[in-house]
Amino acid sequence: MLYGALEAGGTKMVCAIGDENGHIIEQVSIPTTTPDETMPRIIDYFKDKDIKAIGVACFGPINLDKKSETYGYITSTPKTAWKNFNIVGCIKDALGVPVGFDTDVNGSLLGEITYGCAKGLTDAIYLTIGTGIGGGVMANGKLLHGMLHPELGHIIIEKRADDKGECVCPYHKACLEGLAAGPSIEKRWGKSAKELFDDSKVWELEADYIGTALVNFCMTLSPQKIILGGGVMHQLQLFPLIRNVFKDKMAGYINTKTLEKLDEYIVPASLNDDQGIMGAIKLAIDAQ
Ligand code: ADP
Ligand code: ZN
Repeated sequence: MLYGALEAGGTKMVCAIGDENGHIIEQVSIPTTTPDETMPRIIDYFKDKDIKAIGVACFGPINLDKKSETYGYITSTPKTAWKNFNIVGCIKDALGVPVGFDTDVNGSLLGEITYGCAKGLTDAIYLTIGTGIGGGVMANGKLLHGMLHPELGHIIIEKRADDKGECVCPYHKACLEGLAAGPSIEKRWGKSAKELFDDSKVWELEADYIGTALVNFCMTLSPQKIILGGGVMHQLQLFPLIRNVFKDKMAGYINTKTLEKLDEYIVPASLNDDQGIMGAIKLAIDAQ
């Protein structure tokens, strides 16, 4: 059985064909420009591939409320060409197969829960730290949507007194994304995050912000595991620093067995950056 998978991102659309075991059989990448240009190329890729269903893990904000008239739409995105675009309707009309739909980060989490390091867990978080920060949440075995979907990147945090940078989020004076995503690192230090790899003060501050956020997520959502992905988290030296901040700021308040092994609790994504597209395969499998 073949399934279609689309990881819809702000810069590129990854399209893949997978099987019922989550194996990626083939995959292509199409630049994200406008719906008029990009969608026909996506449809062209999938149309004659004999897929049973398709899963779409999509940048947002998106409407996941099946009772809403605008279910399946990309809603208030800053990518103006995609604002109020009915991505699910467009794909369903063209391909005539069931469409599974969720956020990009819920897709990555589903990939890790089904095929990766969070296999078998019922409560977990996937946080991506890249151009932006976003988080997927599974609670009691279900991907969390709630009123809209979680926006873990925009929690309000305190800017550290010695931080000479600025919060680059256009909405918030001090939020996690505005202080800790790739562009804010670059703005603060004048070089890309990659080039700063050996500058310990950069990663000490970064770990402080991320570790603080993870304490808050642990307190509010009680995950069994926290997975960190995205470009910035390729700096693996961040992991021990983040775990130290987490331990310090948690201050022993939650003392479960799980938290005794922080190196198994706060972990890197495990699927070679395929977690999103593999999650999209699972969204397709679940949609049929
Ligand atoms: P996106 O979030 O756009 O999907 P990425 O997850 O690759 O894409 O994130 C891009 C951001 O991550 C950029 O700000 C870039 O500077 C940063 N980044 C990418 N690779 C690395 C790396 N190896 N080390 C540190 N930062 C990186
Ligand atoms: Zn913000």
